[in-house]
Amino acid sequence: MTTAAIIVAAGRGTRLGGEVPKQWQDLAGQRVIDRTVARLAGHRGIDRLVIVLHADDMARGAEFGAEFGARGHLVVQGGATRSESVLAGLEALAADPPARVLIHDAARPLVSERTISEVIAALDGADGAAPGLAVSDALWRGEAGWVTGVASRAGLFRAQTPQGFRFAGILAAHRTRRGDLADDVEVALAAGLRVAIVAGSHDNFKLTEPQDMARAAEILGRGMDIRTGNGFDVHRFGAGDHVWLCGIRIEHPRGLQGHSDADVGMHAVTDAIYGALGRGDIGQHFPPTDPQWKGAASHIFLAHACDLARIMGYSISNADCTLICEYPKIGPHALAMKAEMARIMGIDPDRVSVKATTSEKLGFTGRGEGIAALATATLVKT
Ligand code: MG
Repeated sequence: MTTAAIIVAAGRGTRLGGEVPKQWQDLAGQRVIDRTVARLAGHRGIDRLVIVLHADDMARGAEFGAEFGARGHLVVQGGATRSESVLAGLEALAADPPARVLIHDAARPLVSERTISEVIAALDGADGAAPGLAVSDALWRGEAGWVTGVASRAGLFRAQTPQGFRFAGILAAHRTRRGDLADDVEVALAAGLRVAIVAGSHDNFKLTEPQDMARAAEILGRGMDIRTGNGFDVHRFGAGDHVWLCGIRIEHPRGLQGHSDADVGMHAVTDAIYGALGRGDIGQHFPPTDPQWKGAASHIFLAHACDLARIMGYSISNADCTLICEYPKIGPHALAMKAEMARIMGIDPDRVSVKATTSEKLGFTGRGEGIAALATATLVKT
């Protein structure tokens, strides 16, 4: 069953202050919208993404192209109201409809993986599902600075997003809706759909007031997630006149054998990144049984792993690779390798290390039967 997510980023919210709408503002080193997109696109339960932008921002849609292309995404122009923007997002999916859709505010960048998972899971037994927080404060009525009465908080919830629905139901509800409604749950209820409440989270608040940015930055700092992964690879020597090592072609009386270009160092680094993400290895993403990867340049694999890291909200803090061989001598090429690896990974060369060792003529590397490589990568959630 496919699940799509619509991120509604067409608002012009100005209460927060600043020169640009809040979704385009910086939050602890990354734009709010990029953080929100990463949370949804990086969730393994979500297959497709629709980003709804204001007409004035459509030119910025291309900024999402390269990074999120692998998972498939659409950028759609929103309407004059939130409801119209959501309908534009739903209509963009209608030609090839998913089974389920989650509709999320771009201004809630701290939505957790657990909240997204719980909304998706609840759709097995309901037309719709959304996170809510039971109201814990007493409620007053007030006028002109005076309390004029109290209200019962029993049975009251504060609504959050993502609000999830079975796609056909919410599309029909939005197509027949009258006017601009507060949120998609209200649209669903007006159409007679049943919506389940799942546990909301205090961190999943909507950036609204100026102080909300500082609160969000503090929460992000508290939740820093650092991951390491390791990779190991071996390729055997065979006929040939060159080898590829860490993206550099080196003349050599023998070549390395393999399904791709057999760049053993690049493979080890790529597997270290997949390892840190908990997302398998090169063989899983690029099966050797698939002829399209025969002779493939290994930078395709490394770039894919780096894209996946970014989609999941991680930046690569560093990668360290050790090549184990007697020949060719690595030293003269190490700087070029470091620079090329950094270029492919889109990070500063200071964050990449390529070094080498022999195995003192012991074992298969010592006998010159092949080259081994091992690597470590550190990723930080940003
Ligand atoms: Mg390999």
